[in-house]
Amino acid sequence: MSILSHICRSQCLYFARIIGRKTLATLCCHSYRTMSGDNSDEPTGAEASSQSTTSHIPIYESIPDELRSPKLSTSQKNNNDQDGHEGESPLLRETTKRLSRSLDYRQLEDVQKSVQKNGRYVNPWKTFKFPSKLDIMRWMTLTPDNSNVPSKQKLDQTLPILRPNKTEIERPPPSGIRITWIGHATVLVQFDGITILTDPIFSQRCSPTQLMGSKRYRDPPCTIHELPHIHAVVISHTHYDHLDVGTVRLLNARFGNSLRWFVPIGLLGWMNSMGCDNTIELDWWEENCIPEHPEVTFVFTPAQHWCRRGVADENKVLWGSWTVIGPNYKFFFGGDTGYCTVFEQIGRRFGPFDLAALPIGSYEPRWFMKSQHIDPMQAVQIHQDLKAKRSLGIHWGTFTMASEFYLEPPLKVKEALESKQLTPEEFFVLKHGETRLLFDDGMNNMD
Ligand SMILES: [Zn+2]
Repeated sequence: MSILSHICRSQCLYFARIIGRKTLATLCCHSYRTMSGDNSDEPTGAEASSQSTTSHIPIYESIPDELRSPKLSTSQKNNNDQDGHEGESPLLRETTKRLSRSLDYRQLEDVQKSVQKNGRYVNPWKTFKFPSKLDIMRWMTLTPDNSNVPSKQKLDQTLPILRPNKTEIERPPPSGIRITWIGHATVLVQFDGITILTDPIFSQRCSPTQLMGSKRYRDPPCTIHELPHIHAVVISHTHYDHLDVGTVRLLNARFGNSLRWFVPIGLLGWMNSMGCDNTIELDWWEENCIPEHPEVTFVFTPAQHWCRRGVADENKVLWGSWTVIGPNYKFFFGGDTGYCTVFEQIGRRFGPFDLAALPIGSYEPRWFMKSQHIDPMQAVQIHQDLKAKRSLGIHWGTFTMASEFYLEPPLKVKEALESKQLTPEEFFVLKHGETRLLFDDGMNNMD
């Protein structure tokens, strides 16, 4: 009974997230059941999970070499054959070479490992509590929507969209970290010779279908075709505003297997079904790299959140954050999270970070959102827990997903910084499409 009740509650929360709580409240009065089919042309999470034969890419010395490489596509295998190394692909060779460093953070006692119950991941912290049925009803019907997103004309003044300078972002900077905010949780990050894209969404709606669902009120500042070469994409979790089918397909069509996808454990089958063969799925604290850049380490680190795309796939895929460690700079991507003690662990293990991208929006009302979304004050606390030198506020100004005023998140960040006597430079926001170069030692201006 309690499992059934939980499923009902999560269905409500899930559809409210996708189509908006007011629309859901109206539809509930008619036929809730007809809504529950996934109309998209993607497989459901459950189907995709069942396709995932290699649910985990083991990467440590106790694991046989042949299991250390991602599944290769036919074209990759053919290319490898031409390379003259019988049975050994460049990808495998490079990855194996890199893995000889064997950084097994899972062996360490003081970090929170992922926890599963009945085949589904759970949040191991007391700070996560799934809302009750009453809470969901109250949220859907009684909570005022204060977002007040104005007309496009007004938005062009309050949230202007800048076109990224293609020449400026064409390749990673010789020194420093260059960041460009594409919108919501999508950030182009360039440092230590690589270009990364976080939770990319370029579509108009974050929804199973582009016909209905939450629509963006600020367009992406550029197209996928206008992006520079992307070495890696990191995905934090499966919610539609962080993992978008249209965007995955377009990125894969443009970059193919030259682009490596780093995804949470449980998502490999889904990624393969999208044609993304160069995918690495990781559990919390596991790490891997891009074969061409073995000096940069990607670690999947925890977060307090949840996952869902289809009707029956709740929490079959893990959620988390990403820690990217290069020879010169360290970057943290928060994805989507509630506040919990794990950020102190991440700060202890990998801090100080040079730059963190942390969510600052979709937090009201607190009594309902606090388990899954931090508010600006908590974002600044995480900035401190991580020992981040700089943080960029993300997950705001693009989609309406909660009830705070659409311009409130950066104002609240400013207040939080003042209350903690931190400078505004330490935790900042960018305009859509704006680029900023941090920690430049002057080498960028030499030519
Ligand atoms: Zn989410």
